Amino acid sequence: MARDTGPQCKQCRREGQKLFLKGERCLTDKCGVERRSYPPGEHGRGRMKQSEYRVQLREKQKAKRYYGVLEKQFAGYYKKASRQTGITGENLLAMLECRLDNVLVRLGFAASRRQARQLIRHGHWTVNGRRVNIPSYQVRPGEVIAIKAETSATQVVRDATELTGQIPAWLQADHESLTAKVLRKPERREVAAPVQEQLIVELYSK
Ligand code: SF4
Repeated sequence: MARDTGPQCKQCRREGQKLFLKGERCLTDKCGVERRSYPPGEHGRGRMKQSEYRVQLREKQKAKRYYGVLEKQFAGYYKKASRQTGITGENLLAMLECRLDNVLVRLGFAASRRQARQLIRHGHWTVNGRRVNIPSYQVRPGEVIAIKAETSATQVVRDATELTGQIPAWLQADHESLTAKVLRKPERREVAAPVQEQLIVELYSK
């Protein structure tokens, strides 16, 4: 499975805002955006021409980076979202939000999506009692997520729970037993991603 292994702080600096890709470090003054608040590269501090296309493209890139999804998979999500009933942009965000790696972050069971992906890939999590090692797995209402019994990752997960802010209302977490339940699908107002999905729809509709 292809994955993005590039420098993450550069991605935030390119988008001009904190995307919280590195867990605890993002909350410290070592954050790349705090230290160098201009885009990376030789021309980072030069003037950038703002076209409509550029704004839309950057929004799509930002969403990809925030959720840690590569181009082809992101285009696949868009295609599926546009076939569903309802608002395409909201369908797209709901699908990205329901990825198992993102859900672990929202529940406070991983400090970053990259860490969540590694924990899932290494088989530390189960859904409804069955081991799931696919980070893009789409969680469904009623499903129970739990850490595998006697796994070596327990301490890492407990450390991550220390960083947790508020858990969204569509999820329910128990940080003692390291289990959680998906109560329903997320509504748009509950998705905390810094993304204007309408711009992405406009880009793909060209
Ligand atoms: Fe982004 Fe975190 Fe790096 Fe800051 S520390 S630039 S928020 S990845």
